[in-house]
Amino acid sequence: MAKLSDVGEREAIRLLTAIFDRGHPIGLGHDCGVVEWGEDYLVITTDVVNPRTHIPGGSRPDQVGWYLVAVNLSDVAAAGARALGFVAALSLPPSTDTDFLRGLGQGMEACAREFGIAILGGDTKESDVPSFAGTAIGRVRKDRILLRKGARPGDAIVVTGDLGRAGLAYAQLADPATRAEGLEELLRPYPRLREGAAFSDSGIVTSCMDISDGLGLSLAQMAAMSGLSYSVEWEKVPLHKPLETMPADRQREYALYSGGDYELVATVKPEAAADLVARVNEPHRGSHHELTVIGTVERAGPNTLAAGGKREPLQGRGWEHFRPSHSG
Ligand SMILES: [Mg+2]
Repeated sequence: MAKLSDVGEREAIRLLTAIFDRGHPIGLGHDCGVVEWGEDYLVITTDVVNPRTHIPGGSRPDQVGWYLVAVNLSDVAAAGARALGFVAALSLPPSTDTDFLRGLGQGMEACAREFGIAILGGDTKESDVPSFAGTAIGRVRKDRILLRKGARPGDAIVVTGDLGRAGLAYAQLADPATRAEGLEELLRPYPRLREGAAFSDSGIVTSCMDISDGLGLSLAQMAAMSGLSYSVEWEKVPLHKPLETMPADRQREYALYSGGDYELVATVKPEAAADLVARVNEPHRGSHHELTVIGTVERAGPNTLAAGGKREPLQGRGWEHFRPSHSG
């Protein structure tokens, strides 16, 4: 009998999908589940955070609280939906300091306020190990929902923000001098709800997903859903600024194969890509790298990375639970 550590997270999901799949038009395997609601879909997503996988030692409780809300809202953003609310189930050992719980709640509240929603309620339970399950709800017009599939060959691939931020932050944890900075970056992802809504409103974005586990793995998952391949041009990938002076292999490891950036990767009709980039980049913050075209959707085949005039495989590896690392 295989263990989860042998098969990994994606096989575990496949096992459950085979049980739950009822052949609905929008089935399982997207960033959110959907429920028909008149003209709209309600979208629902849940993500659990626990000390072993997501909360490095030294994290402040408010950072953990922000993270719990943010990673769930990131999936709502990926569906192109507006966030409506959030609930959480918190499992805590009885020895937990009340200050920890207060900090956790304050971090959750800060993130919810930032994105215009409220924490609607939840549950607290006693357990041997801490574990925090969040659930976010959103709403999107039926004909404007964004899914992992829907791309067509020739579509442009775009990405929000810059990549490699979390990979670098994770590496910074090893050095006491940079650990606090690394924790702050890792645990403070900024869900791209504004961009996701703009994608949805545009009517020209054909598919979307959030990059929770690295671009390589996200594009492998999109390829599995769409039956197409994704070709990325390395020179166009917007790098997190401190990466720019690093050796190429580290840049790639952080920007393509490390989890935790929570940017959106989307596909857009090629003739409209420039228009979308202009529309998303225009109103906010005035900083660089808001939305960048990084490649093209192609017919079925392996995902590729074009770099220095050569094409190589874009690997479908990144962060996967139940086993430390995985390629495929
Ligand atoms: Mg996701």
